[in-house]
Amino acid sequence: MKQLAVVIAGASVAGCAAAILMRRAGHKVTLVEQKAEIGAYKQLCTHFIQPSAVGLLASLVPHGLESLACKTHAVLATPAGIIDAGGYRHEQADHALNLPRRVLDPLLRAAAIQAGVHLCLGRKLVAACHAQGEWTVRVAGSSDEQSMKADLLVAADGHSSTLARLLDNPASHYPNERASFFVSCAGVAGIAGAGSLFINHGEEMAFLYPQPDGSALLSCYVLKERAAHWLAARHPQALLADWAAQVKYLPRIEPGMMRGPAYRYRDYPSLWRKPVHAGCAFIGDAALTLDPMSGVGCGFALQSASLLAQSLGTSESVDEALQGYGQAHSKLFAAHAKGIIADSRIGASAQANDKIQALIHSDPELQAKYLSLTGRLIQPIEFQRAVLNRLARFSTRGPGATVSTSTHHGSQP
Ligand SMILES: Cc1cc2nc3c(=O)[nH]c(=O)nc-3n(C[C@H](O)[C@H](O)[C@H](O)COP(=O)(O)OP(=O)(O)OC[C@H]3O[C@@H](n4cnc5c(N)ncnc54)[C@H](O)[C@@H]3O)c2cc1C
Repeated sequence: MKQLAVVIAGASVAGCAAAILMRRAGHKVTLVEQKAEIGAYKQLCTHFIQPSAVGLLASLVPHGLESLACKTHAVLATPAGIIDAGGYRHEQADHALNLPRRVLDPLLRAAAIQAGVHLCLGRKLVAACHAQGEWTVRVAGSSDEQSMKADLLVAADGHSSTLARLLDNPASHYPNERASFFVSCAGVAGIAGAGSLFINHGEEMAFLYPQPDGSALLSCYVLKERAAHWLAARHPQALLADWAAQVKYLPRIEPGMMRGPAYRYRDYPSLWRKPVHAGCAFIGDAALTLDPMSGVGCGFALQSASLLAQSLGTSESVDEALQGYGQAHSKLFAAHAKGIIADSRIGASAQANDKIQALIHSDPELQAKYLSLTGRLIQPIEFQRAVLNRLARFSTRGPGATVSTSTHHGSQP
């Protein structure tokens, strides 16, 4: 394909990744970001990068990723016992990363500039019009407005995407029945060199992520009534610590160990938009925002950017590239998204969930598959097949038996 003029709205994970890859492919890329500082970053994120995206991320930032991040792996604490990814290695990738957004976001922007992307900070995309195969977009700064032309327009402008609103690409909303709190903690015992803990605690979940500076990030996904009670309290951090003390496998965390604000949300529905609409490509959260409990958003943002760049690289025209991208997006993410959306509901199948966790725990092959699923290295169907094979081998019900495989963080449709 000829060299394209590309305008991308949003210089965060998805936008920077797409910009770097397209610039490397020879296109002329302008990246428009409403935040004015190169060091600005998304605060509402626990920045666990799934194994499925680690290799891609490493290919985008030239040097030193591993010295800035904490190399880690999932340790899943289920009602049946611990499943530790430290004991398994998948052929495609072998670890996850805890990489704070205050490091990741500026790192990606610097890599974009280094690749030759034109980064326009402090400019918000406010209008877009497509006529005769060409885009005209308007971007507003603090005191002026300018217009830009493009052959390809990419929306990487996050879950409340301006471009989705301007181009009328509404999201399907899916309920999330948990609220979330997370806080940085210092002096937590036994986390050095440890994996990242994902703990099922009844209908709630706790996560403990070791960080590059030796601290740990505690995050929890709790019932909304509990969150409302914490929010109404004078010392919510004390209630959070009390709750954490009840969670099996979590080291002791006192309120005095908590540093900085406890970030939170009361409601965070999953949003799903068409990845291609009105001739514009939507990537990252702008196309698919999923329950943060699944920990897939940054990885999927990187991977969707890569799918778009790959499709451009193998197509003869922008239309063909967009069509290919739309198909590839569904193929890679739809089944994961359906499972994650199902896991955002509470109480549907607690008993079946316990059974499936026990089954996984009993079989090393299923454990490995489950970890690959939670790391988004395989499709849900591959894990489901492994479960059915396991049941067919050992169940009197035979190979036709079905089982609910809805599990937190390893979601199934
Ligand atoms: C509580 C919480 C915890 C999370 N934890 C994890 C985790 O552990 N692991 C993980 O992988 N994911 C996690 N996520 C999800 C992750 O944060 C997002 O999926 C990810 O940031 C999506 O990246 P993005 O580039 O698509 O969008 P964003 O990071 O939202 O970036 C959008 C960018 O577009 C810019 N923008 C918006 N509108 C305009 C405009 N009109 N013009 C110009 N610029 C614009 C914004 O300023 C922003 O920089 C979490 C999310 C939440 C809420």
